[in-house]
Amino acid sequence: MKWFRQWAQKSPWILHYNAGSCNGCDIEILAALGPDYDLERFGVLNRGNPKQSDIFLVTGPVTYRSRERLVELYTQIPEPKVVVAMGACTATGGVFRGMYNVEDGIDTYIPVDVYIPGCAPSPQLLIDGMAKALEIWVQKSRDIEKPHRLFGGIRKTLHYLDRRTMAQTLAQSKEKEPQ
Ligand code: SF4
Repeated sequence: MKWFRQWAQKSPWILHYNAGSCNGCDIEILAALGPDYDLERFGVLNRGNPKQSDIFLVTGPVTYRSRERLVELYTQIPEPKVVVAMGACTATGGVFRGMYNVEDGIDTYIPVDVYIPGCAPSPQLLIDGMAKALEIWVQKSRDIEKPHRLFGGIRKTLHYLDRRTMAQTLAQSKEKEPQ
C-alpha cells in the first residue's frame, strides 16, 4: 500500500512520446487514462509540455528520425524526472530490431528507470509501472532535498529546488570557511 499512500500525496504528470511505435502501446495508454482504468483518478495527467512533466513515458523503438527529439525532450524535463520505457520495442527494438532505421533500445540515448514488458503491455501493467515510477520519483526528490536539510543556512536562502544555484551557493560557503 506504500504506492497508494504516495499516490494520495503526489500527482505525477507524464509526457508521452511516441518514438516510432506501431500505436499498439499508445492505444493501451489511452485505455489506461480512460474511464475503464481511470489512471487520472490518481492525478496522473498526460501533459504535452516537457517543462510541466515528472515522468517521461516513451513508446516504440527509437528510430533515427525520432532520436534527436527524444533527447531534446528528456533534457527539457526538470529534475527530478523518471523515464518509463513502455513495451518490448522501447526496451530492445522488439519486432523492429535490426531494421535499417532503428537502434536497439532507448537506453542507447537516455537512462531508463522503469521498463514495462509486453507487446503491447496491458493497462494494468502500465498502472504497475506508474506506481514504480512514482516510488523512484519520490526517492529522487528526497535525494535532491537532502543537501537542503544538511545545510540549514542554505535552505533559508533557497526557496526552490535548483541544482545549479545550490551547487554555486555550496561552493561559495566553502570558500568562506576558515582554512
Ligand atoms: S511493443 Fe508491440 S504494441 Fe508496442 S510498439 Fe512495439 S510492436 Fe507495437
